[in-house]
Amino acid sequence: MSTNDTPLPANFIRQIIANDLNTNKHNGRVATRFPPEPNGYLHIGHAKSICLNFGMALENNGTCNLRFDDTNPEKESDEYVQSIMRDVQWLGFSWSELRHASDYFEQLYDYAIQLVERGLAYVDSLSAEEIRAYRGTLTEAGKESPDRNRPIAENLNLFRRMRAGEFDEGQYVLRAKIDMASPNINMRDPAIYRIRRVHHQRTGDAWCIYPMYDYTHCISDALENITHSLCTLEFEDHRPLYDWVLDQLQTPSHPQQIEFARLQLEYTIVSKRKLNLLVTEKHVNGWDDPRMPTLAGLRRAGVTPKAIRDFCERIGLTKQNSWIEMGVLEYCIREDLNENALRVMAVLEPLRVVITNYPDGQVENLEVSNHPQRPELGKRTVPFSKVILIEQDDFSENPPPKYKRLVVSEEVRLRGSYVIRCDSVIKNEAGEVIEIHCSYDPGTLGKNPEGRKVKGVIHWVSEAHALPAEVRLYNRLFTVPQPDNEANFLDALNPHSLETLTACRVEASLAQATTVQRYQFERTGYFCLDAVDGINGGLVFNRTVTLRDGWVKD
Ligand code: ATP
Ligand code: MG
Repeated sequence: MSTNDTPLPANFIRQIIANDLNTNKHNGRVATRFPPEPNGYLHIGHAKSICLNFGMALENNGTCNLRFDDTNPEKESDEYVQSIMRDVQWLGFSWSELRHASDYFEQLYDYAIQLVERGLAYVDSLSAEEIRAYRGTLTEAGKESPDRNRPIAENLNLFRRMRAGEFDEGQYVLRAKIDMASPNINMRDPAIYRIRRVHHQRTGDAWCIYPMYDYTHCISDALENITHSLCTLEFEDHRPLYDWVLDQLQTPSHPQQIEFARLQLEYTIVSKRKLNLLVTEKHVNGWDDPRMPTLAGLRRAGVTPKAIRDFCERIGLTKQNSWIEMGVLEYCIREDLNENALRVMAVLEPLRVVITNYPDGQVENLEVSNHPQRPELGKRTVPFSKVILIEQDDFSENPPPKYKRLVVSEEVRLRGSYVIRCDSVIKNEAGEVIEIHCSYDPGTLGKNPEGRKVKGVIHWVSEAHALPAEVRLYNRLFTVPQPDNEANFLDALNPHSLETLTACRVEASLAQATTVQRYQFERTGYFCLDAVDGINGGLVFNRTVTLRDGWVKD
C-alpha cells in the first residue's frame, strides 16, 4: 500500500479537481456519486463522504448521484434504502439522479459476456476454499485454476447456464483472467460473478447470479459518466482492478478513482456491521438511538445538519488514517447550538424553595430573553410565584470552596428574577434536605441590590406552573477511545451511556416545544424534544451535548 509521505493540503481532492478543470481533463465536467450499500443506516463516517461528493459537485457546478450499491441482496433491505435517502436529504443535499447498481444488472451481464468472448474471463468450478488456497500470499504467487484455460465456447455456455439457474450456489464462479502472479492479490483472477439464490429487494427473483463489488462499481461509475470516483483508502489496492475492467471494455467513460482516509471517531464505532450488532443484540434502542453515531441517531439527539457539515469541513481530507477526537464534533455541535438554541429553564433534580415573604397566590409574569446575544429571537413570559424549584445541586449546607450557589444565610440571584436569601432548611427524618425557606428582596428585579454584591445566578421554575418532563442524559457509548481496537468491542460499552431522569420540571413555555427547535436548558446543556417519545403525551427531552467540554462551571 503506497500512502503518500508528503503532507497534503487540508482537502487535496479539491485541488485535484481544480487542476483537472484547468486542464479540461474531463471536458471541464465534475460528476461525483455517493455509493452506499443499503445494508444499514448511514453513520458519521458516511457524512464525510456525502459532504465531499456533494460538496465538490456543488462547488464546481457539477452533478452528484446517489447510487445504491445493491449487489449483496442477503444483507440489504428497503428500510435501509429509505433511511439513506432521508439522511442524505436531511444533511442538506439533493442528488442529481437516483441510481442503483441493480439498474445495470443487464448491462453488467452483457459486459461480462464480452469479457468471456474475448478470453478475459472464465467459469471456474473451484470451491471458495480452493480459490482462497490457490490465491497465494503477499510473498508467494498464486496457482492457476485447472479451469483457467477452459475454451471460450464452454465458458460462454456455462456462464449462460449460471444465469439460467441451472447450478447450485458455489458450484461455479466467473473470474476475470488477469494474472495469478501479480504482486497485487486483487489482480489474481478475481471473481466477478457468483451464484446466489436470494431474493433481491429491487429485482426480486429475476437474477440468481450477482456481480461482485469491484466489477460492478467501476462499470456503474462509467455508465453514469462519473469524472471523479472518490472512495476510502482501503480501495487503493483495488484501483488497478478498477482500471483493468474499464480498460478492457468500451464503456462510455473512464472515471478517475481517488482515495481518501476514512473518518475514525474516538469513543464510537463507524462500521455498519458492528452498529448492526449493537442494534440486533439490543445494546441500544434501535439505529436511531441518540447514542448511535448514525445520522438518524445524531438527528434524534438534536444535532443539526449544519454542525455535521461544519465538522466534515473542519476535519479536512487527507490520505493519512487518523483518529478524530469526539471533542471536535462536540465543538461543532456547540457552536451551532450556542448561536441558535432558545434559552429556557429546566430543573432536572428539583428541590422545593418557599419564598416566605412573597405574597400567597401572587404570580408575576416575568419577561425573559430567549437568547441574550440575539434580541431578535424575542422574549417569553416566565411565571414567578411563592414556591419555586431549583436544582438540588444548587444548594449546599456544607459548600466546598468557591461555591457560588445558594447556601444558608447567603444570597443568590434567580435567573431573570429576584435575589433570594436562604433563611432555613427543612429536613426529613433521615436528615435529608426536603425544602428550603428563603426570603426575596423586592428591589432586585432586573437590578443589583444596593451596597452588596451577589455573585451566583441559578435557574429555577415556578412549582405551580412547571411541566413534568423526562430528561435523557446521554454519555459516550464506549469507555475507550478506540473500541474498534479491542478484542471484543462490546466489552468496551459504557454501562452509563444513558441516564434517565424522570422527575424533572421544565418551564411552562415548553408546552409548545417542537422537535425542530433546539433548546439550551440554562446552565445545564443543549436539549431537544425526543422525536419518538416526546411527542405523544409527556415531554421527553434528549441531551444533545453538555454546555462545555468536561466539568460545567457556574
Ligand atoms: P461500513 O463498513 O460502515 O459498512 P462501507 O464503506 O462498507 O462502510 P458503504 O455503504 O459501502 O459503507 O459506503 C458508502 C461510501 O461511504 C463509500 O464510498 C465509503 O468509502 C464511504 N464511507 C464509509 N465509511 C466511511 C468513513 N468512516 N469515512 C469516510 N467515508 C466512508
Ligand atoms: Mg461496504
